[in-house]
Amino acid sequence: MQNMVSLEGRTIVVTGAAQGIGKATSELAVALGARVVAVDLNQAGLDALAQALGKNVATYAGDVSDPKFVQGAIDDVSTRFGVVHGLVNNAGIIRPAMIEKMTLQQWNEVIAVHLTGAFLWTQAVGRRMIEAANAGGFAGGSIINISSVAGRGGSIGQINYAAAKAGLLGMTMSIAKEWARYNIRANSVCFGVVETPMTETIRGEKFRDGVLSRIPMGRWAQTDEVVKPICFLLSDAASYITGQHVPVDGGYLITV
Ligand code: NAD
Repeated sequence: MQNMVSLEGRTIVVTGAAQGIGKATSELAVALGARVVAVDLNQAGLDALAQALGKNVATYAGDVSDPKFVQGAIDDVSTRFGVVHGLVNNAGIIRPAMIEKMTLQQWNEVIAVHLTGAFLWTQAVGRRMIEAANAGGFAGGSIINISSVAGRGGSIGQINYAAAKAGLLGMTMSIAKEWARYNIRANSVCFGVVETPMTETIRGEKFRDGVLSRIPMGRWAQTDEVVKPICFLLSDAASYITGQHVPVDGGYLITV
């Protein structure tokens, strides 16, 4: 039977690919047939990923919010591999503090990585996709912005993160509206709490019981289960889905 979520022949850029959700996305995308362009600050993590996945991964080490790095990487990717079909804006950081104590630096750092980074990659990759669409024979593009329940419901101690994640939802809908005519789709995936290094504190003794009590499924998510919806949205199985924010949160958002 045909694999409905095949990514055979697709080139997909994944930011924040050295660990956590980005690494798991890269692994599944390659298993589904894609070539992955893995981007991260962490060179050693990228090297380990490339070693594990072999020739189907090309790595680029740098800061997602650095315009020169982004443009240089995409120019190189286009020369080496031609058309890019997918982009997962996943790189992220947290700089928690209560609003009254948050520094401007903490605010700026989070906005730069999540929001400005996603904008820069979307623009650089999208321009290439538009060129391919205008040239004819383009299989279509899919852009996934990794958001969070924090972007839908706010978050105590993380106004910077919640604002960035809500901003990504606006970005998703704008991309969907502007670029549908090029057959470029854009969707957000909103995670609850996934077991990765980023969530060590929230899963620790102090917050654990309170957070778990708000998740109807009563457990944290594993990386290998949350990346399946990302690859579904990248694939042709989602060919008529655009501008949406897909919750992957064990029911977190439906609790009041
Ligand atoms: P993680 O901390 O395990 O991995 C993040 C990766 O991004 C790291 O490899 C890091 O080096 C990279 N990165 C950070 N800043 C970068 C920069 N400026 N340039 C390039 N790379 C950079 O985090 P994760 O849990 O895998 O989270 C991935 C995404 O999912 C993030 O956007 C995060 O906000 C989002 N998310 C995670 C959860 C969760 O529960 N883990 C929930 C909701 C949303």
